[in-house]
Amino acid sequence: RAKSEGRGRWRFFEPAMDAAMQLRRALEIELRRALLLGEFELYYQPIVDVASRHVTGLEALLRWRHPERGLVPPDAFIPLAEEIGLIVPIGEWVLARACADAAGWPGAPRVAVNLSPAQFASRGLVEVVEAALRDSGLDPTRLELEITETVMLQDSQATLQTLHRLKALGLRIAMDDFGTGYSSLSYLQRFPFDKVKIDRSFTSELGLSRQSDAIVQAVTDLCAGLDMVTTAEGVETENQLQTLSQRGCREAQGFLFSRPQPAASVPEMLRSLSDETGPHGAGRDEPG
Ligand code: C2E
Ligand code: MG
Ligand code: MG
Ligand code: MG
Repeated sequence: RAKSEGRGRWRFFEPAMDAAMQLRRALEIELRRALLLGEFELYYQPIVDVASRHVTGLEALLRWRHPERGLVPPDAFIPLAEEIGLIVPIGEWVLARACADAAGWPGAPRVAVNLSPAQFASRGLVEVVEAALRDSGLDPTRLELEITETVMLQDSQATLQTLHRLKALGLRIAMDDFGTGYSSLSYLQRFPFDKVKIDRSFTSELGLSRQSDAIVQAVTDLCAGLDMVTTAEGVETENQLQTLSQRGCREAQGFLFSRPQPAASVPEMLRSLSDETGPHGAGRDEPG
């Protein structure tokens, strides 16, 4: 048959391709099943005010509790979920879950939810966010949405309109991973961000590289001038925190304060962070 002839011709290349495709296909099926069976979980990591060390926010971070593989981090499945469009229903679940969790922690700070570019571009995003707020009863001022620079590359008129519609709900918008993508300073002026999160790649070099210090200083100054808060991601050492403080960075997030924790541990995490004068938690592990 023609088909088997065709296969024969490709024999050299096919096994590797086949294996990769099969893995991908298997992961796709498993991901769809995970959503149906409720295998996703949210972990939360605190965001801290540099000057007072008070917790100002909690970032919701997606995990997949896989029946055999254990706790799977988002980088292992979000790119595929994004590619096959499954990130839209997954993201809807994340929004609903995060708002419901936050509403159940009265007095807790704001919750930050990551939005993927595909989710941002999807029809009905604003309605999905509205429904999550309404169903949970969460005060919109306690919700922050994090988007990356990739979103700005899409149709900027549509993006701008969506951002304004979201902001009209009363929530806040943060630009995530600033400095990694196709960063343009004009984005900061054109789009209505409340916050800019400086990527971990800059934080990790703080105090070690004059260039990173200068970039953090410049972003912090610029954001201050535009009335935006700056948050440094991936803060792991007291040294980095001190440099951030000297550079005028308002907020910090990282293992120095706490690793992401399961929802059930959040009240205890908030208690212990407010009890202690200094940061802690560097040694705390994410429970598997
Ligand atoms: P992100 O939004 O930039 O989240 C911060 C990531 O840095 C988290 O990784 C967090 O665990 C990690 N991190 C925090 N502090 C430190 C530190 O001090 N040192 C180091 N080495 N890492 C630190 P995680 O949870 O693996 O998430 C990775 C990315 O996956 C996120 O980056 C975000 O882009 C994406 N993501 C997570 N949850 C969601 C979600 O619900 N929806 C979407 N669309 N994307 C998500
Ligand atoms: Mg984020
Ligand atoms: Mg980030
Ligand atoms: Mg990141």
